[in-house]
Amino acid sequence: KGIPAFNQGEKEYELSVATANLLYRFTRPECVVQPETTEHVQYIVEQARDVGEDITVKCGGHSYTGFSTADHGLLIDLKRMTAVKLQLSKDKTPTAVKVQAGARWGDVYRTLINGSHRGYVINGGRCPSVGVSGFLLGGGLGPFTRSFGMGSDTVIEATIVTADGKKVTVGKDSPPGSREAELFWALRGAGCGTFGVVTEFKMDVKKLKNKNVVAGRYLWTPTAGVSHHRTMQQILMADWPKEMTIDNNWMLDVKGGKGEMGIRFTIYYDGPKDEFDKLLDEKMTPQPLDGSLSPEDRVKLQLENADQENLIKQLKRRSMPEPSTRFLYESLVLMWDEEARNSLPRPGDNAYQKYSSFCFRTDREEDARAMEEIIRIVTAQQTFFKDEFKTDNASFWVTFIHSGGKATTFSRTETAYPWRECTFHTYITIKWTDKWLEQNATGFLLRMKDILKPYSMNGQASFINFSDAAIAKDHDVAYYGENSARARKVKSVWDKDNYFNWP
Ligand SMILES: Cc1cc2nc3c(=O)[nH]c(=O)nc-3n(C[C@H](O)[C@H](O)[C@H](O)COP(=O)(O)OP(=O)(O)OC[C@H]3O[C@@H](n4cnc5c(N)ncnc54)[C@H](O)[C@@H]3O)c2cc1C
Repeated sequence: KGIPAFNQGEKEYELSVATANLLYRFTRPECVVQPETTEHVQYIVEQARDVGEDITVKCGGHSYTGFSTADHGLLIDLKRMTAVKLQLSKDKTPTAVKVQAGARWGDVYRTLINGSHRGYVINGGRCPSVGVSGFLLGGGLGPFTRSFGMGSDTVIEATIVTADGKKVTVGKDSPPGSREAELFWALRGAGCGTFGVVTEFKMDVKKLKNKNVVAGRYLWTPTAGVSHHRTMQQILMADWPKEMTIDNNWMLDVKGGKGEMGIRFTIYYDGPKDEFDKLLDEKMTPQPLDGSLSPEDRVKLQLENADQENLIKQLKRRSMPEPSTRFLYESLVLMWDEEARNSLPRPGDNAYQKYSSFCFRTDREEDARAMEEIIRIVTAQQTFFKDEFKTDNASFWVTFIHSGGKATTFSRTETAYPWRECTFHTYITIKWTDKWLEQNATGFLLRMKDILKPYSMNGQASFINFSDAAIAKDHDVAYYGENSARARKVKSVWDKDNYFNWP
């Protein structure tokens, strides 16, 4: 059939199985295949199934828990299926995009640059090296989710090779209630390697309000001894308009006995720069210094206000307007550089990594109190981490990824992605370099999981795209909530022998 296939030791095999996360360094499937067409994928699935070989699918390889690494069977690496075709209307306006399932977001964003389509976006990932497939099949939380919904909310159609080797196209036009409509429902949130091998997506192109986006990033190191709690509470709980997205990553890197905590902000705003500045001033107000304060409390608040003022000043200075096309193709790469480096294999510079994730709400009265607790817990745990790993080379990051806005306007059951009311998808990264540290690092992550889990939606929610090494049981319920039973039913229709994985 002429399908590129590689055995252990061959360069393409080694490139396909290479991983940045040393936990998966010895995951070596029997063979790697790199199909070039949907027909190739059909042939591979038929043959593998006939001889009882397991299949693992890889697109961008960014899974936090090694879902696309295999230590047996066949690895289907989709790296040769990266074609992207933008569909244009008569007046050359982009309307939709067809993407082969091995593409990464950088491949997709390039088409907008090439056509100079300023003001138009495809609702993809923050990090251009993330694979289109893993991102969309898990729901997909993009830089413009607050304006347009989850990435998967803008998928129109998907083509998939199912366990019997058949090619099926499902989408918004599938008759309601049909097997196809149910499969399309499931692929939007519960589709990572579960129902078959997706080979192509068709997505809407979305129009921003403006041709320029204001974007910036700043690593804030609060002054030693001055609390950052009130400032962070304001940022996390503010009722930002849907055009504003503010992510923040609490980064603590410990090395050689030293380690300073910093909070890195990445901001994207669909609007003019003066409005952006005004919004920061409006939402980030200083603490009132009323006469009833003791002299000590007064000084404390004055220092906190000064720190916050400096933060706002820097966020304004370090954010700038730029064409939306350049933002997607260039700025996102720079903004997510550290995270991308954790995911791209670089011989000699890789580390061990474990992740856990949570879904935090901010829309109810009780959420303000919960957020105060979350901030307090994260801050306290940073001190413990610094102490426990003081002689090591280790990192503890807590990343709050901003969701909400338009994503909340869909019902929990509209697609398989259930965490509609979540405002911050938050994940913990523990990274270390000394192999003998695994038990300590894992122990720390599990402790964090236990402490923060009660604050997550349903008391256990995790976002499948930030897949979680600390879920003890009922993974499907943790990832899909009340949609789990329906996704299971879809699985029983399309893959009744459970050939593909179920989380
Ligand atoms: C640096 C970085 C930034 C990120 N930013 C975001 C973000 O902003 N928003 C967000 O939502 N997520 C984000 N993620 C998470 C990311 O979306 C998920 O890890 C996603 O699963 C990665 O997709 P992938 O194709 O690169 O991964 P892979 O590891 O290749 O695949 C992930 C899963 O999907 C399955 N799969 C892949 N391709 C197919 C296919 N064609 N058919 C069926 N199953 C398939 C795999 O088997 C595996 O189970 C980020 C991750 C990293 C490392």
